[in-house]
Amino acid sequence: MKYINNRLTVEKANFQRIAKRFGTPFYCYSYSKLKENINKFKENFKSFSPLICFAVKSNTNVNLIKEIKKFGLGADVVSLGELMIALKAGIKPNKIVFSGVGKTSSELNFAINKKILLINAESLSEIIEINRIAKLRNKKVKVGVRFNPNTDAKTLNQISTGKKENKFGVNKNTFHKIVDFCKNSKNIDLKCLSVHIGSQILDHKPYGKMLKAVNHILDKSDHKFEFIDLGGGMGINYSNKDKVLNYKRYNAVIKNFLKKHKVKIIFEPGRSIIGNTGMLISKVIYIKDSGRKKFIILDAAMNDLMRPALYGAYHRTLPVIKSNKISNKTYEFVGPICESTDKFTTVKKFQKLEEKDLIAICDVGAYGMSLSSNYNLRPKPIELLIKGSKINVIRRRQKHAEIV
Ligand SMILES: *Cc1c(COP(=O)(O)O)cnc(C)c1O
Repeated sequence: MKYINNRLTVEKANFQRIAKRFGTPFYCYSYSKLKENINKFKENFKSFSPLICFAVKSNTNVNLIKEIKKFGLGADVVSLGELMIALKAGIKPNKIVFSGVGKTSSELNFAINKKILLINAESLSEIIEINRIAKLRNKKVKVGVRFNPNTDAKTLNQISTGKKENKFGVNKNTFHKIVDFCKNSKNIDLKCLSVHIGSQILDHKPYGKMLKAVNHILDKSDHKFEFIDLGGGMGINYSNKDKVLNYKRYNAVIKNFLKKHKVKIIFEPGRSIIGNTGMLISKVIYIKDSGRKKFIILDAAMNDLMRPALYGAYHRTLPVIKSNKISNKTYEFVGPICESTDKFTTVKKFQKLEEKDLIAICDVGAYGMSLSSNYNLRPKPIELLIKGSKINVIRRRQKHAEIV
C-alpha cells in the first residue's frame, strides 16, 4: 500500500477508482500481503514445520479461506458454521481443529462424522459428551484437551484467554482427570494438549511462560501426546508505537521444548495471517463542527468495523487522496449509528477533509468483516480481493431487500 501521485493504492489498484466502481464503504484485501504473511509465518518456524491452522473466526470469507488453503494451511474453527465454511473452502478434515467452550451435541456429531483432525475439548463435561456420542456411534474420536496455563498474555483484558479467571480451557486438576478418563475410554483417542492464551500478543515472554506451564504439566503426566497445539495470538502493528513480536525468541523456546518432547506442533494464527491485508474504505458524508472538534461523519460504522467500539482498538486512518493542507481542528471519525461508541478514532492533526472525500481505515483484515452485523439494519459492505491490477468481488454487497 502506498501513495502514487498522491493517490492511495494497493498493489496496482487505486482506491478512488475502486470506490467509483463499487461504491462505499468497501473492504478490500491485498493478495500479495496475504502471501507474504503466510510465507513469513512458515519461515519463522520452518525448523519444525508445524501444522498451521488458520483461525477462521478472524475472517470467514470463503474465497479468502480458499486462497489460504492453497498455501497448505488447515483451519481452526469454533462453531459448526465455521467448520462448514472451512470444508466448503476445500480444507481437508485432517487439517481442521475445533476449539470452543460450548460445542453442542449437534456440532460434535457433525465434527465426529467428518473425522476432523482434533476436537479440542475445554471441559470434563465436553469429554463425557464426546465419549457418549462416540460410544453410541461406535467410533474412536481424536481429541485434544485445552489447558489453561494461567499465564498473563499482557494484552488487552478483553482478548486475554489464558488466565485462571478466563472461561477457557481446564486447570491442572481437571486436566489430569480428563487424561485418566480418556485412558479408560475405548472411544476417545487423546492426542493433543492445546493452549491459547490470548490475542494481539506482542511480547514473546508470555509464550515462554505458557510453554513452561505446558512442560510442567507434561512432566506430571505419563500420557504420550502426539500434538501440542500452541494456539495463535501473534500480534501485529496497528500503530508505529506497538512493539514487534520477536518470532526468533518464540521459535527458540519452542525448539528448546521440542528437545525434550517429541511432538508435532500446531499453530492457530488468525490476525497475524490476515490482519494487515485488509482496508476499509469509507466516504465522508457530512462534516459537523462542534466548536472544539469536527465530527467527520463516515458512511462506515461500528456495524462494519466493531473493534474500536468493542475493545477501544486503534486503527490508522489515512486520506485516499493526499494533500498538504492541514486541518486546524481535531477530527473525530464517527459512523452514522445511534451509539456514542460508534467512533473510529480521534486525531489532533490530519489533512483538511471535505465532504465526499474518501478515507482508508487500515489493518482491518482480522475481526473486521467477521465481527460485522446488521445493526441499525445496515447492509454489510462488499469485499474485494486485489491481485495486482485485478479486482475480484469475493462477497457482494448485501442488498436492503435481503434484510428488510
Ligand atoms: C481466536 C483464536 C485463535 C486466533 O487468535 P489470533 O489472535 O487471531 O491469532 C486461535 N485459537 C483459538 C482457540 C482462538 O479462540
